[in-house]
Amino acid sequence: MDEAPVRMKRLAAEESGAQVDEDRFVLLVKRLEDERARFAMLADNATDVVYQDDPAGNIVWISAGVRETLGWEPDSLVGTPGLDLLYHEDRMPTEVRLRTVLADGVVDVTHLRCRTSSGGFRWMSARIAPLPDRDVVATGRVVGLRDVHEEHAMREQLSHLAFHDTLTGLRNRAWILDMLETDLAVARRDHCLVALLFIDLDNLKVVNDSLGHLVGDEVLTAAAHRIAKVLRPGDRVGRFGGDEFIVVAPGIRHRNDADAIAERLCAAVLDEVQIGDRSVIVSASIGIALSDEDSIPMYLLRDADTAMFRAKSTGGSHWEFSTAGMRNQARTRLEIEAELRTAITERQFRVHYQPIVSMSDATVTGHEALVRWEHPQRGLLAPIEFLQVAEDTELIIGIEELVLDVVCTQLRNHPDLPGPISVNKSPRHIARTGWHHRFLDQLDHHGVDPARVIIEVTETAILSVLERTRADFVDLRERGVGIHVDDFGTGYSTVALLRDLPVTGLKLDLSFTRNIATDTTARALAAGLAGLANGLGLDGVAEGIETPAQAEILREQGWSHGQGYLYGRPTSLLTTTVSQN
Ligand code: C2E
Ligand code: MG
Ligand code: MG
Repeated sequence: MDEAPVRMKRLAAEESGAQVDEDRFVLLVKRLEDERARFAMLADNATDVVYQDDPAGNIVWISAGVRETLGWEPDSLVGTPGLDLLYHEDRMPTEVRLRTVLADGVVDVTHLRCRTSSGGFRWMSARIAPLPDRDVVATGRVVGLRDVHEEHAMREQLSHLAFHDTLTGLRNRAWILDMLETDLAVARRDHCLVALLFIDLDNLKVVNDSLGHLVGDEVLTAAAHRIAKVLRPGDRVGRFGGDEFIVVAPGIRHRNDADAIAERLCAAVLDEVQIGDRSVIVSASIGIALSDEDSIPMYLLRDADTAMFRAKSTGGSHWEFSTAGMRNQARTRLEIEAELRTAITERQFRVHYQPIVSMSDATVTGHEALVRWEHPQRGLLAPIEFLQVAEDTELIIGIEELVLDVVCTQLRNHPDLPGPISVNKSPRHIARTGWHHRFLDQLDHHGVDPARVIIEVTETAILSVLERTRADFVDLRERGVGIHVDDFGTGYSTVALLRDLPVTGLKLDLSFTRNIATDTTARALAAGLAGLANGLGLDGVAEGIETPAQAEILREQGWSHGQGYLYGRPTSLLTTTVSQN
């Protein structure tokens, strides 16, 4: 074979090969440029901001998104430190992050604030990745920034709502309790005290009732601001609910420090609100509890609350410190409450019955059911030992339902029992929506005629819930249930009450009976009340009759029925006759 053409051919092949490589090179460069253009277009059109920096942190390239998001011209930022783009408080922590990303070659994600060209800032979510991502030592970073300002604001607002009271803008109960924990720990460490001041506004209810809740809210908000104004730096204030505020004062060295704060608070809250042509003084009753080594938020709060009640019940508009006596009382109450809960589930309650007689011939005309607690350790307890706690905790409702159950059973078992059985109802019970349906259901369940039951409520109890409960009483009365006003003459006896409610009887409080033979005022009042009962055609029942002399006077005054030790003490048995001794 001739060598020349072979060489020519090879040469030609080599030549064309070089041509092929050059073509490929041009193609590759073009492809790369296309890729880069596509990437730049993507980056520039994305709402996110992306930038690349060098190991020193200077911006090498930044996407056009920065113009729209933060208002900066991208070119003006190239060559400047990426950190300059950040809000000053976020620079230090971010610098550390940037360095770590470079050193460890890992991706980091965080939230930070970027400066805007108009002088503000926006919250951004940042993703900081090493460049390149893998294999080789990083030569810079790619930082992706996404605007999360609105989300952040929303989250802030939600957490604000979780820890603030919407009406006054003050911190709320949750936050106060949270912070109190920290304050107590600090106080233990620094050997000082925390004073917790429980503030309750006096008379706000009057304002609400007469001028409406909007005015009430205004008074409340104004008081909140005045409270906040007189606090020392470091003191915290929160709204606890209703018209109650809490002030937590840390760093207290002496009781006098707390005195001074309370004095300032009392003066600050004091306000006069005009209601028509009279004015009402809005003031503060304050209870103060000082922490000790073992204080926990809940107990401190309870102690301050108890002291506040003391301040309120002794006239209001001043402050009281929690005392050991109050704390013991509170502890006892908690114990009773816990025991009462068990007592209800274990049905430890007994019902005693006291006869009610006709004053003319002492025949039994009815009974009053009186609850007793058969305490496993302390024996049979009278209502005075537990009723208040039962009321305050609403456990009374369960107790009274048990009592009615027992009474219904008795009524069913004794169809010939003379007269009805009266049951006492607490204000808490009759304030509960739908209570009278449950009451009637219970009677129905036992097949008891409603006319064989009388409900006794004190006038104070009825007055406090009159508006809401009137219809319930009308309904009960229409079905035959009797309604007696208990302890009549001791509360705000209003004649309107007797006009507005379907009352069937009045029970003269035993305090009148006790003194009737000696006290002319008591006697005159009792006579007046008898006239009222008779004039309205109501049953008049005089309670607490112990002597024939008392019975004689009350009979003459016109009381048609009587109840008292003279005729019979409360016992577990129902009596059909009494011997008058
Ligand atoms: P109340 O309804 O006014 O009941 C009359 C109280 O006077 C009873 O006291 C009774 O034992 C007492 N008493 C009766 N006759 C005499 C007497 O001649 N002299 C004296 N000194 N006292 C007499 P008790 O049983 O201790 O009940 C006290 C209060 O407890 C009751 O006063 C009533 O308000 C309340 N209570 C009793 N059971 C219940 C209940 O189931 N629910 C509610 N909410 N309260 C109840
Ligand atoms: Mg009663
Ligand atoms: Mg009574």
